[in-house]
Amino acid sequence: MRILITGGAGFLGSHLAEHFLGQGHEVIVLDNFITGTIENIKGLLNHPDFTFKKQDVTDYIEVSGRLDAVFHFASPASPVDYAQYPIQTLKAGALGTHKTLGLAKDKKAAYVLASTSEVYGDPLVSPQPESYWGNVNPIGPRGVYDEAKRFAEAMAMAYHRTHRVKVHIARIFNTYGPRMRKNDGRAVPNFITQAIANKPITVYGRGRQTRSLCFVTDLVRGLDKLLHSSIHTPVNIGNPDEHTILELARLIKRLTGSKSRIVFNPLPVDDPKVRRPDIRLAVRQLRWKPAIPLEDGLKRTIEYFRN
Ligand code: UDP
Repeated sequence: MRILITGGAGFLGSHLAEHFLGQGHEVIVLDNFITGTIENIKGLLNHPDFTFKKQDVTDYIEVSGRLDAVFHFASPASPVDYAQYPIQTLKAGALGTHKTLGLAKDKKAAYVLASTSEVYGDPLVSPQPESYWGNVNPIGPRGVYDEAKRFAEAMAMAYHRTHRVKVHIARIFNTYGPRMRKNDGRAVPNFITQAIANKPITVYGRGRQTRSLCFVTDLVRGLDKLLHSSIHTPVNIGNPDEHTILELARLIKRLTGSKSRIVFNPLPVDDPKVRRPDIRLAVRQLRWKPAIPLEDGLKRTIEYFRN
């Protein structure tokens, strides 16, 4: 296959690129380096089947030759990042989705959209099944990401229904692993960086909010299965193993052997109180479920941050 990945120099995009190259496919990566880094794809640049182009996905995308699949993974994805780049986040999700769907239609390529558990907002239902419509504040600080991705899903379904593009919508829940940016502001990189330096571990609120963390290799396996499936409606991809943020902070402190104190800082606006994917659809239809336990994945991530 010949596969295009937008945001391919980002955390998830670079793992996807590596995965497909490893399977013998040809990979073209587009990234504008707002949150992606050249470091993430350094190991791929000399691969004969790898091409990189610096491009903003909100501009017209020109790719010569055939394409079998388009993965639209370009977007700031950490709450700190999308608060810093609100307009770019809206544009990547809206204009970028339009451009990449147009490209997939033209090339008769399959299309995989990186959607998100944020479409459920601060959910009133837990765990969250795909049938839940969500509880999103459109004008809050997270609205720029949540609404861009909700628009992206609507656009993908419209291209599917109108132009028969084979779209696949992955609702990606919290994912962690090597190549997360140290300073991307999310809980896992923050806690690991703080713990390794024996600096205070910053838990927001009282740390009672929950998240369910999926190791990146599990996620990539799920996305690959989604690409090869015949499901065109959204599918949750994530690990249902749910923990409070305080538990996560304590676990990282233990695994790093850190002397850090745990401190409590204010909870960000609209921070979801619970998050846990209902993955019955993926289990049944994709024959996929995550395999890496949290402790194992965290150890591998800590190792990456230490190096
Ligand atoms: N969080 C925290 N301390 C930090 C960073 C994040 O307590 O230094 C909390 C954050 O408020 C949220 C959870 O950890 O409740 C997960 O945050 P993250 O930024 O990783 O992603 P989110 O799931 O909110 O998109």
